Amino acid sequence: MEEPRRAPIRCALFDLDGTLSLLRDGWQDQMVPLMADLLEDCGRDESREEIEALVTGFVDELTGKQTIYQMIRLCEEIKRRGGSPLEPLEYKELYNDRLAAAISERLSAIEKGALPPGDFLVPGSLAFLEELAGRGVICYLASGTDEDLVRRDAALLGFEHLFEDRVFGALRQYENFSKRMVIERIISDHGLDGTELIVIGDGYVEIQDGRETGAVAFGVHTREKNRYHMNSGKRERLLKAGAHFLAPGLDEGAALLDHLEVG
Ligand SMILES: [Mg+2]
Repeated sequence: MEEPRRAPIRCALFDLDGTLSLLRDGWQDQMVPLMADLLEDCGRDESREEIEALVTGFVDELTGKQTIYQMIRLCEEIKRRGGSPLEPLEYKELYNDRLAAAISERLSAIEKGALPPGDFLVPGSLAFLEELAGRGVICYLASGTDEDLVRRDAALLGFEHLFEDRVFGALRQYENFSKRMVIERIISDHGLDGTELIVIGDGYVEIQDGRETGAVAFGVHTREKNRYHMNSGKRERLLKAGAHFLAPGLDEGAALLDHLEVG
């Protein structure tokens, strides 16, 4: 790994799912079967295993971008098999509903106080966020999950106040949002040299965007539970995307800040 040029960090951009939050852990177990069922219904001569291998491949490849891009790809695959797909947004709503049902118990357990929010935080994430904020670093949150859900999760998990209004997520007009757009806006709003920004995420999308804009890229290879083992190559993938630093969680985040001379 190549060390980034040392400059004081002034801003930090975080991904949400898999980087700070585990609330949506297991989302692949909702998305993959939904897509595989639809492709199986096209009646082509393909085994369930072949279909699942195809679906897990493209879902994984598009993770980190807005969910709609996974659905656009699904529609292309349905068309390729002679089917007539619904609009990508309709499939996204179907998936969102299934995922909401699957995680509703977690959400209500936190709301009722039956489970502490910490059970759904990536280890070390809250302390790391507080450390950054305490050192005067301005923190941003950007996620491929819908913006209203991103805000709700941040409130439930207890770190909403550290981001204030600097929260960005997927929009119905999906062309108006991307992590890359948020990164470029942070750099121009604060007049940053790229290395004054650190991008922290578990997806290759934000790590690649961070590298391409000259930011410091910190890849978090959290373990995600799903029956398709879709996170097994995460560390290598983040490394390939250009991560300057890698860690399985954010426990060692503060040590990294000392190394980078933050605040
Ligand atoms: Mg993520």
